[in-house]
Amino acid sequence: MIIVPEREIADLMTRDAAFDAVEQVFAAMASRDAYNFPVVREAIGHVDALYGFKGGFDRAGMTLGLKAGGYWPNNLDQHKIINHQSTVFLFDPDTGKASAMVGGNLLTALRTAAASSVAIKHLARKDAKVIGMIGAGHQATFQLRAALEQRDFEKVIGWNFHPEMLPNIEKVATEAGLPFEAVELDGMTEADVIISITSAFAPSLMADHVAPGTHIACMGTDTRGKQEVETALLTRATVFTDEIAQSISIGEAQHAIADGSLTEQDINEIGAVINGTHPGRRAAEEITLFDGTGVGLQDLAVASAVVKLAVEKGIAIEVDF
Ligand code: NAD
Repeated sequence: MIIVPEREIADLMTRDAAFDAVEQVFAAMASRDAYNFPVVREAIGHVDALYGFKGGFDRAGMTLGLKAGGYWPNNLDQHKIINHQSTVFLFDPDTGKASAMVGGNLLTALRTAAASSVAIKHLARKDAKVIGMIGAGHQATFQLRAALEQRDFEKVIGWNFHPEMLPNIEKVATEAGLPFEAVELDGMTEADVIISITSAFAPSLMADHVAPGTHIACMGTDTRGKQEVETALLTRATVFTDEIAQSISIGEAQHAIADGSLTEQDINEIGAVINGTHPGRRAAEEITLFDGTGVGLQDLAVASAVVKLAVEKGIAIEVDF
């Protein structure tokens, strides 16, 4: 069995490798070569921790496994480690033998950023120039860094519920040599692409904050009750997602489904666009919306890629297990 510790991931995994792994697994999901297992997420009744598993099997990539972990709210204060903790375990699909254990913390951010990037590649207008960020926390910096590689963006605009956090994304824009402007939410009409990555339980982005032709990636809503954008935006947009079952239950679409303004049939798989069985964007004026809920197969795909890189570079720790 191979071990790739968390400390090695930053030097091993690239944004390109994460992008390729996630694009391939979304394609495999849409062609029914890969499927996610039901998610388990439990409050364990100890130190307010939320713990769970996300797993799946990708027959195309021959990847079987799970990500185990969750959220420990007191970690940073009491143990000086980050609150989100996860580990990916991979198994040999032919024998069931454990094949790898991989640190999952940084990989989670990279695979989440890769998901919105894949959607931008396939759905945003080719001439997109302005990217708008809603959210400026941990994930937002990864999201912006990856998204900037998808189009020739000329400007970054940003809004955050806690404005004092905006320098986090301004720094990423500056590093990329782009101007940054903090805007009010109605200023988002300037954006050609908008990424929303917050932990909000009430919508910030309203339908009239979005201009025709915009592509929106809703990446923060991954739990029942969370919401980032007004329901009316989903009915105005063509909606895509990583996995329809998650989109309607824990994703951004859960609210439009609940109030009856959207049906499951209105939601399209991003993998179908990658595979060419859905045309994706059909017109320059069309609003496209990607509901990125985060699936276990993304974690397995990037973990599998990192194991290959670790073996190639002689960094993998091999244990007899
Ligand atoms: P973080 O705590 O670092 O940042 C939270 C962000 O949400 C900040 O920008 C904060 O200002 C904003 N926010 C907080 N309360 C708000 C409110 N009431 N209204 C509007 N904005 C508010 O968190 P993070 O690690 O960046 O994660 C952000 C979200 O992304 C979380 O909801 C997390 O669960 C989700 N997430 C999704 C995926 C996925 O695959 N889709 C993966 C990882 C994380």
